[in-house]
Amino acid sequence: KKNHMKIEFSSISQNESLARIAVASFISPLNPTMDELTDFKTVVSEAVTNSIIHGYEESPEGKVIVECTIDQEHIEIVIKDYGVGIENIEEAREPLFTSKPEWERSGMGFTIMENFMDKVDIKSSKEDGTTITLAK
Ligand code: ATP
Ligand code: MG
Repeated sequence: KKNHMKIEFSSISQNESLARIAVASFISPLNPTMDELTDFKTVVSEAVTNSIIHGYEESPEGKVIVECTIDQEHIEIVIKDYGVGIENIEEAREPLFTSKPEWERSGMGFTIMENFMDKVDIKSSKEDGTTITLAK
């Protein structure tokens, strides 16, 4: 059975919990374990935080879109922003790489996503912003 949802919200830190809870609630009919649920919440959190902090540099004018599709046991999550984009995707994926060391970022967001998910696809440009597709 297929199911799909899409939410859009302002680039405000407190909305990160909305995204996390919305995805967790949407996938709950699949009866995920507590550990699986935590993994999904964590990766959504990482990607949405990236959109807010890096994509929009904390400007609340930005819009973040989170989409989730369930197909059988397969879950796909898309996190999209129209922000500044990622200059070098290869570099951004590397553990400990951060463009904001002075902000106490550890550069582990993409590494966490890659560890928890089967697929992490990054599409990004200055013109269109950043789209992260996560699948498990
Ligand atoms: P942490 O996630 O550990 O707090 P971080 O956010 O810097 O630190 P990653 O999440 O791995 O680390 O992201 C690596 C880098 O990729 C970021 O420092 C930033 O330069 C860039 N980046 C990630 N997501 C976006 C985005 N949505 N828009 C623009 N740049 C991004
Ligand atoms: Mg991050």
